[in-house]
Amino acid sequence: MPIHFEKATREALILNPLKNFQLDSQVIEHRRDPLTGRGVIVLKGRLEYVRRFFESEEVAIENLADSTQQGCPFCPDSLEKMAPKFNPQVVPEGRISVGEAVGFPSLFAHEDNNAVVVPIRAHKISLPQMPARMFFDGFKVCIEYFRRLHTWNSQVKSDAIVMNFYPPAGSTIAHPHLQALASDIPLQTTYGLVKASEDYFQKNGSSYWSDLIREERRLRERYLARRGNVDWITPFAPSGLSEAQAVVSGVSNLSSISDNDLMDLTEGIVRVLKGYHDAGIRSFNMAIYSGPFSGGADYFDLNLVIVARYGYKPRFVSDVWALQYLLGEQEVYEAPEETCSRLSKYFD
Ligand SMILES: [Zn+2]
Repeated sequence: MPIHFEKATREALILNPLKNFQLDSQVIEHRRDPLTGRGVIVLKGRLEYVRRFFESEEVAIENLADSTQQGCPFCPDSLEKMAPKFNPQVVPEGRISVGEAVGFPSLFAHEDNNAVVVPIRAHKISLPQMPARMFFDGFKVCIEYFRRLHTWNSQVKSDAIVMNFYPPAGSTIAHPHLQALASDIPLQTTYGLVKASEDYFQKNGSSYWSDLIREERRLRERYLARRGNVDWITPFAPSGLSEAQAVVSGVSNLSSISDNDLMDLTEGIVRVLKGYHDAGIRSFNMAIYSGPFSGGADYFDLNLVIVARYGYKPRFVSDVWALQYLLGEQEVYEAPEETCSRLSKYFD
């Protein structure tokens, strides 16, 4: 098996005032993502200490949702009247709808092609209330948007779907929404994953993603469940807090994912979100990494990650400090093997 789960353990030594200034050792575990080499520091057993930062103030959350409902640009009436419309060359009817989900261009674009997708009419919704259908309809709108873009300009084939929920995750609007981003210039993480997958295939003659899932199923300690073609794991070297990852076997990109696979993917998302909610998590980021929309990257499997973010409350502290922002090293407060054992009951 060419996949190596590399880790190295070091210790931080201090004379600890909490232990009468006795010599105290704290275990610092360095891990590297087996595909990209991206580094993460795993601080096992630190979760209880950081729980105070994870937890949101429920009153603040209620206030945020209630106080932003009036004048919310994503609630149905305002959206119908005020939301921007797409370039008619791409979407002649102006907006794209599937079920309750509506897609329209971002008023302030972050990317050459940037749709905002409001997947549900309800303004105020908590993590365990988010239905699979909300994600399914939202993803369908994103995929239809990418299809129209690709028909309009076949060079626009690098795309991503992301979700930021609540301000700690970077969201400026409380109403749930997705962003669909597309360009002929790939986004950094997607580019790195696809390139590394291609290199792995050329070196080993097999797909990194099928090797990864086979290995994780064998080891079991980070393996959550399989539903249809979708496997869920907690990655060996997480890119964020309580990270869960879904890999859609044999599907390289969003143009070729079936409705069944998409439904299986969304069923897993709601399970993770229920687990997050029970752990006191109220804010999260999610991303779908896709190979080129036109195909041609069979060595890559489409995958999705969800990460928890710190809580929403007065005296908020960001979970991203210079370590992550400037030094490019992630930090998590429990081993992914523990995250897996905590989330596994939601996949029963
Ligand atoms: Zn709203």
